[in-house]
Order: sequence, then C-alpha cells, then structure tokens
Amino acid sequence: MVAMTATPVSRPAERRILLAAPRGYCAGVDRAVIAVEQALEQYGAPIYVRHEIVHNKYVVQTLEKKGAIFVEETSEVPAGEIVIFSAHGVAPQVHDEAERGGLATIDATCPLVTKVHKEAVRFAKDDYDILLIGHEGHEEVIGTSGEAPDHITLVDGPDDVQNVEVRDPDKVVWLSQTTLSVDETMETVDALQSRYPNLLSPPSDDICYATQNRQTAIKKVAAESDLVLVVGSKNSSNSVRLVETALNHGATAGHLVDNAGEIDESWLEGVTTVGLSSGASVPDVLIDGVLDWLRERGWDDLEVVQPVEEHMQFSLPKELRRDLRTEAAEKGKVRAEGAG
Ligand code: SF4
Repeated sequence: MVAMTATPVSRPAERRILLAAPRGYCAGVDRAVIAVEQALEQYGAPIYVRHEIVHNKYVVQTLEKKGAIFVEETSEVPAGEIVIFSAHGVAPQVHDEAERGGLATIDATCPLVTKVHKEAVRFAKDDYDILLIGHEGHEEVIGTSGEAPDHITLVDGPDDVQNVEVRDPDKVVWLSQTTLSVDETMETVDALQSRYPNLLSPPSDDICYATQNRQTAIKKVAAESDLVLVVGSKNSSNSVRLVETALNHGATAGHLVDNAGEIDESWLEGVTTVGLSSGASVPDVLIDGVLDWLRERGWDDLEVVQPVEEHMQFSLPKELRRDLRTEAAEKGKVRAEGAG
C-alpha cells in the first residue's frame, strides 16, 4: 500500500478519503482517445466515430467539441470520410459495411478485446460451442458474437446457465466480456462446469488486467468505507461493476456518479470514511473534481490504497501511420462511380 496522508487542521482525523489505485484510464481507453485526437490533428475535422469511443460522457463531449462526430452506424458516414471504431470492438460485418460505404477506417478496438475475438474465431474453427459470459446488448458482446454467430451462445450471469443448450457437452468452451465482475464470472463458470464437466477454459484471462486491478483495489477500500463513490458513466460496464464489488465487500453504501455535481450531500450524513475510485474510461480531471468537492466539506485526509501496480501501454492503431485522407477520397470516388 502506498499512503499519502495529509494532516487535518481542524477536522477529526477519522474523516478521511481512501483513494483506490489503480483507477481511471486503462491502456485501451487511453489509446482509443489519443487515436481520435491524433486523427483530428492529422486529418482535420470532421472525424466520424462509430458509437461512443469509450463509455464516458465527458470524454465524448470533449472530443465532439474538437470536431469528432459520433454516429450509431457507419451508414450515417458520408463516402470518402474517415470513421473510427470504438475501444469495445466491432463485428466483421461492420468492417465490411465501412468498406462497401467507401470509408477509410481506424480500428481503436482495445487489443485485449481483439484477443477475445481471435479466441472466438479459433474455437469456432475447431467447431466448439462457445459460451460467452457477458451482458446482453453490450457493444463488446455484440462485436465478439459477430465473429462466430453460429457458434456463440451468450450466458448473462449464473442464473442464465440453466437456459444454455449445446450440441455436444464434451466440446464446449467459455469466453467472457473483458469488463465483468471477477467474482460473478467465476460463479457463472462454476455453474457451467457443473453442467459440463469437460468445459474448456480460455487460454488466458478474458477479464482484462485493468478491470481486475480496479476491482482488487476497490475491495480493499470498501472494507474500510462507509460510503464508496465511483466516478463513471451509467453505461460503463466496468464502472457499474466497481460499485457492485464495493457493496459486496463491506461498503455500507455505494454510488456511481458522472462527476462531483451528481453527489447528493445527504449521502455524507454519518459518514467518516469515503472510498473513491473511477472506471477505466474516466479521466483524472473528474476524480480531481470529486476530491475538491469533498475537501470543501471537510474531507481533507487522503490516503491512497494501492494493492497492485499497473504499467500497461498499447501502441496506437496502425492505420494512423497511413495517409487516410487520400485513401478515403479514393474509396469515396470509386463508390460514387460505382453508384453512377
Ligand atoms: S477496460 Fe480492459 S479491455 Fe476495456 S479498453 Fe480498458 S484495457 Fe481494454
């Protein structure tokens, strides 16, 4: 544990903040956000982005101000333009649609999501039934399922295990979304193993290092906190899991907030220790805002709780090294000629 303790001046010493580390940006989010910023700088606005580049309102709004245009589908992007795929990954059909639409693409899918896609392709090729543990409707799950739709069955938590049907109970493998609760996923795997004793496990963890590290840190913090605040957006899977993990590991209360403005003063009644963390798509500026808000209300004793070190970094998408504007213009021209 790394501790940074400021001596309180007039407040009781027990009024303190336990700040979880690691927290905030992971390597995949950092890479995706920089990819949009660099594309804007390199090619100029507008740059189209399919879906929220990462699940955070503040990040999306900041990039919009710089000239990014967020769309739901590639069909909304004019031919000849550049579109970036978000960190959550896309199904192969989306790449095909972009190609047919005359778009140049930058794929900001996190390499750890790509790893799960590759596992799905490999096990499908070997004709396994793949049980993908994840949340129905989440973009990452939609993208991974698209790699092998005929082989993948979604398993949305332990209660869903009873609904699973496979062709051959001896040829089944499980994979998972990268941002799940480690504990709940293991419960689901145990339930699957009871039904399919020969169930194969993925070659390495699918729940990514960042999700695991943030959950490890919040567990330590939660055990000593009356209230845990997690900064993150409601559609951020890993942020929602942090609140759940905190509540399951000792926190008396826990809330997910996009920023300090969403904190309700009444949550602090009777509270001495506030635990604080942020999801993998949350920039530091939002945590700083919450720290300032708490300091103004007397929480000025800060202790950083860091049970694990984190040093991961990913290189930028390879497409950023090519001349995408020329490529996009040529593709758009070809498409226009084809249509004419
Ligand atoms: S949370 Fe994990 S899988 Fe998702 S972008 Fe970050 S590192 Fe990649």
